[in-house]
Amino acid sequence: MRWLVGGQVFDTESGTFRRADLGIDGGRIVTISDGTHRPGTADATDATDVIDVSGMWLLPGLIDCHVHLTQPTDAGDPAKAAARSDAAVALYTAAAAERTLLGGITTVRDVGGWNYVEMDVRDAIRAGTLRGPRMFLAGKLLSITTSTADYYPGMYDVADGADAVRAAARRQLARGADLIKVMATGALLSSETEDARAIQFTLEELQAAVEIAHANHKHVAAHCHALAGIHNAVDAGADSIEHCTFADDEVLRKMAARGTSFVPTICAGELLFRDDAVVATMPPHLLERMEAFNDIHAAAVRRANELGVPIAMGTDAGTPGNHHGMNAHECVFMVEQCGLSPVESIRTATVNAARLLRQPDLGSLREAAHADVIACADNPLDDITTLTRLTMVMAAGEVVTHPSAGLGR
Ligand SMILES: [Zn+2]
Repeated sequence: MRWLVGGQVFDTESGTFRRADLGIDGGRIVTISDGTHRPGTADATDATDVIDVSGMWLLPGLIDCHVHLTQPTDAGDPAKAAARSDAAVALYTAAAAERTLLGGITTVRDVGGWNYVEMDVRDAIRAGTLRGPRMFLAGKLLSITTSTADYYPGMYDVADGADAVRAAARRQLARGADLIKVMATGALLSSETEDARAIQFTLEELQAAVEIAHANHKHVAAHCHALAGIHNAVDAGADSIEHCTFADDEVLRKMAARGTSFVPTICAGELLFRDDAVVATMPPHLLERMEAFNDIHAAAVRRANELGVPIAMGTDAGTPGNHHGMNAHECVFMVEQCGLSPVESIRTATVNAARLLRQPDLGSLREAAHADVIACADNPLDDITTLTRLTMVMAAGEVVTHPSAGLGR
């Protein structure tokens, strides 16, 4: 039995901290003591199993519902990454996974990988040969015929028509996908001829993807910018709307009523413009689009929160300048730019994300939950930016980084 003693522990339900010690065994939280009596020697079998987190603020490990671990972030032109070998992608992905974990993200949902290389990385993490977060994977994303498939040849599975979409969804599931990702509208980081305000998959095609996913107890993430595409995806029964840029009140009310999650990905625009080297190499058509969409996007997130839409944290880490490991900045942007309270922001990355992933044992610090724990030096309810400077990360009961362990970032 291992103990985390002396910390303030966050309760996602009440949104408050309380003094408590966590007893951990087999990768799970087995006991939460109120901290009035420290765990005695009867519980702590030797001194190394007591980890002092006095004065620290403990939260559940964060969950990022929208990453691309295979995608390099240091070049402004995504087309430049199209010709990488699978071996090079695997090496990159392993490093990206470790950086993500050190940033306090103990679980990710990857919504577009590269030739299924990320599935081997997931398996190596599970086997303990690599360090990284828990991974829920879409495999390749499903798309209509588009010139953007040449930008991301390892990420796109092109399917036109409902029957082809069913077959493509089945291909991902056969490779071990945990969810299906569909392109309901055009993308921003795409070819010059693609339009983010255009519909891509039709309602019928989206329904076909949802049918196969739900029949297999999997969920569906729908990429959407254009309003009509958001309506189509929600009507088809998609479980999460990614980006959701041009949402209006009508579609947001529909999402709130159905419980459809909104995955914002504010980091994609914000972190890009903080990295001058990346901006300098970005093709003009992409730069124009990223600038034009940023403010509209933040306003949509703000309105969604006001209307009670469940928001699940997602960053789009893997886009240019949106570096793996900086994911927690999304929680800061949601507070500073989208009007969420710190408690609401933390919930998007914990309980709300766990609900979307259908993983009730993630996203909260309670008995029987997975022992994924992060520690902050300051109270994040007073200063949300403390989430970007963690003092400890624990994944499945194992300390990944802690000042006293000499494993700092
Ligand atoms: Zn994405």
